[in-house]
Amino acid sequence: MIQLIRGFKDILPDETPTWQHIEKTATALFQAFGFSEIRLPIVEKAELFQRSIGENTDIVEKEMYTFPGSKAELITLRPEATASVVRSYIQQKLYAKEPVQKLYTIGPMFRRERPQKGRYRQFYQINAEVFGIASPYIDAQLIFMLWSLFERLKIGGLSVQLNSLGCPACRPAFKGALSSLLASKTDDLCSDCVRRLDKNPLRVLDCKVPACQEAIREAPSMIDFLCDDCTGHFDAVKSALHSQKIPFALNPRLVRGLDYYTRTAFEIQTDALGAQNAIAGGGRYDMLVKMLDGPDQPAIGFAIGLDRLAALMMQTAPEKELTPELFIAALGEETRDITFEWSCALALEGVRTEIDFSGKSLKALMKRANRIGAAHVLIVGGAEIESGAVVVRNMATKEQKTIPIDGVVNHIKTYLAT
Ligand code: AMP
Repeated sequence: MIQLIRGFKDILPDETPTWQHIEKTATALFQAFGFSEIRLPIVEKAELFQRSIGENTDIVEKEMYTFPGSKAELITLRPEATASVVRSYIQQKLYAKEPVQKLYTIGPMFRRERPQKGRYRQFYQINAEVFGIASPYIDAQLIFMLWSLFERLKIGGLSVQLNSLGCPACRPAFKGALSSLLASKTDDLCSDCVRRLDKNPLRVLDCKVPACQEAIREAPSMIDFLCDDCTGHFDAVKSALHSQKIPFALNPRLVRGLDYYTRTAFEIQTDALGAQNAIAGGGRYDMLVKMLDGPDQPAIGFAIGLDRLAALMMQTAPEKELTPELFIAALGEETRDITFEWSCALALEGVRTEIDFSGKSLKALMKRANRIGAAHVLIVGGAEIESGAVVVRNMATKEQKTIPIDGVVNHIKTYLAT
């Protein structure tokens, strides 16, 4: 038997209704907040991710699925969506039509991480990105929108973690202070952190290795280094969150794994999924559009981990698996043609219909109807057809009703509606 690849997974019919429910709820909510959908390729030039995510990050150093697209060019299965959305905003000149763009996209991402519960090599995200708005109100509104989504999905046990990563004016001083602290602790750090110390000391802050966590206990906080502009921005975000009654906690260790973030960074964490507790994360990336040769436009966005969100909902409020509303038990060869027609007509009328062509006995058919959770069974034998009426049985109450064959599709629809 050929099995699926380690780190990949199938999303089966008992889970897909929950996934669809999340996607529908998110789509409706995001559209109400002014977002439009964008659909992008899942492969891009490797260079796009190298330049945006940053060379000294886990993703670019060791997690990308990169392969030759042609002799001259490496291509990559996208490890995240923001870079592609930015690429499109620039390449398709969306900014020329209107600099303010609010875009969302849903789809798979690929990272060659060590697989474990809640961490896959192909996983799904819902991304939302806003371009062209520098105001801190949009930071707060994005977090509010995200929080409202989880409320609509009735998910509790969540916390919002908030930090500011400053800007090119104030971050260097923080980096310097952090580097000097870390330089005195190189013996305690993991090899990745030691290697990155020069280029990307911030990464040590979210390294999961316990020794590194211990080493940064006395590390300075970015918040203490913020310049006046960044402080003003951060205060305005916090105040808008307070006014919308969003509970949040300041987390000075929250740097997120990508280089492009500036100012506001946030994460939504759950207490119900064990180690992989982040279900959404995002932040501002005011430099990225320009860095990728676009116009100087600020931007902010987030990504929701759909797999983890679905896993949470499967624990608390799973959507019901789809089952037939009507199962047609066609008994005998002579009933086959007519019941086949009915089954097609009923499906077109929106009645989820299952018909069994096997020619098995009524007992066997009732057993199958039960097994697949059919709500009603339409029993059709030669005698019923001759008499001009068929019997429909409610499988829960065991009540039976006789229905005339003349206009049967409408009769069944009316019966099911009552
Ligand atoms: P990131 O792009 O790393 O900020 O991730 C955003 C969200 O995607 C996280 O909060 C997770 O919920 C989800 N996520 C990231 N990596 C994985 C993964 N390997 N498997 C499952 N979900 C993931």
